Amino acid sequence: MTDCIFCRIAAGEIPARIILETDSVLAFHDLNAVAPHHALVIPRLHIATLDDAAPEDRELLGDMMLAGAEVARQLGFAKKGYRTVLNCNHDGGQSVYHIHLHVLGGRNLSWPPG
Ligand code: 5GP
Ligand code: ZN
Repeated sequence: MTDCIFCRIAAGEIPARIILETDSVLAFHDLNAVAPHHALVIPRLHIATLDDAAPEDRELLGDMMLAGAEVARQLGFAKKGYRTVLNCNHDGGQSVYHIHLHVLGGRNLSWPPG
């Protein structure tokens, strides 16, 4: 059994509040939301970080972005606006080493991020 928490969510071994699922990705609500809307989009395939993504992952990375946009539409904040974030490695603030796209909305997000 894998000890990767997001692989286990993808396998249905750990519960999550799923928003959408496709053959390649799934989206669910973040456990510790930092905005009124905070979703995560993950690929079913385990890729640890963006730095580990390869040219053959191009379509999968596109699927993640498009799923993020679909999440914003489904949850109703697409037109108002939102931010997608992909943290990479230690200095990027990554804490779960299975690549994931944050989709944040529902408030005015400041820039630059901390
Ligand atoms: P990172 O810091 O790696 O960019 O983001 C990891 C995110 O995963 C965090 O926002 C954290 O709240 C979320 N997270 C960690 N464990 C779980 C979990 O078991 N379930 C859900 N839904 N979110 C999680
Ligand atoms: Zn994984």
